[in-house]
Amino acid sequence: MSRFSQAQFLLSVASPAQLPADVGAEVAVAGRSNAGKSSAINAITHRGGLARTSKTPGRTQLLNYFELAPGQRLVDLPGYGYAAVHASQRRAWPPLIEALRERASLRGLLVVIDARRGVGAGDEELLGWAAPHQRIHVLLSKADKLSRAEATATLRQAQAQLGGRASAQLFSALKGTGVREAEEVLAAWLG
Ligand code: GDP
Repeated sequence: MSRFSQAQFLLSVASPAQLPADVGAEVAVAGRSNAGKSSAINAITHRGGLARTSKTPGRTQLLNYFELAPGQRLVDLPGYGYAAVHASQRRAWPPLIEALRERASLRGLLVVIDARRGVGAGDEELLGWAAPHQRIHVLLSKADKLSRAEATATLRQAQAQLGGRASAQLFSALKGTGVREAEEVLAAWLG
């Protein structure tokens, strides 16, 4: 049974004033659109359809909060599409995303990356978003689409690229690969 099988949708947030009280602990989940973020949330909570709210048209710019357990929250960030930003320009994050980072309860960031794409420029931007004390863990998603040898090589390459900035693992919502491992990481951060 999942650690988080009591997970439930809490609220959608459109502006900093709507953020829930900054108490307890929370983890943000982010990823490029179509990376498999909703599927990962559903797999980790063993609640098919829980993250579907993030797909409702017009809600894509919202933060969707889920309560995993009392005082433990997951925040689903809008999928990013990556407008090309010149390397010399600092990306201006929307005020809501800035406000999220400032929260004392934000323990870390779970980044969902399609294992076949690897860590890209937009993912790198996101790694830079997190404050130094916030942990980062990367789920290399859809690992079922890779052979065992490819998956091993992909994990090594991602770990090398991430260096000390983030930990990483292989993940497949379809096959259940790495779900337990991801749950353990979240539980450790939120506990
Ligand atoms: P999101 O936009 O990041 O929330 O991505 P979704 O979770 O909606 O998934 C995007 C697409 O990838 C969908 O067609 C999913 O069925 C597919 N997908 C997600 N996770 C997996 C997985 O573990 N394995 C495979 N093969 N496909 C997946």
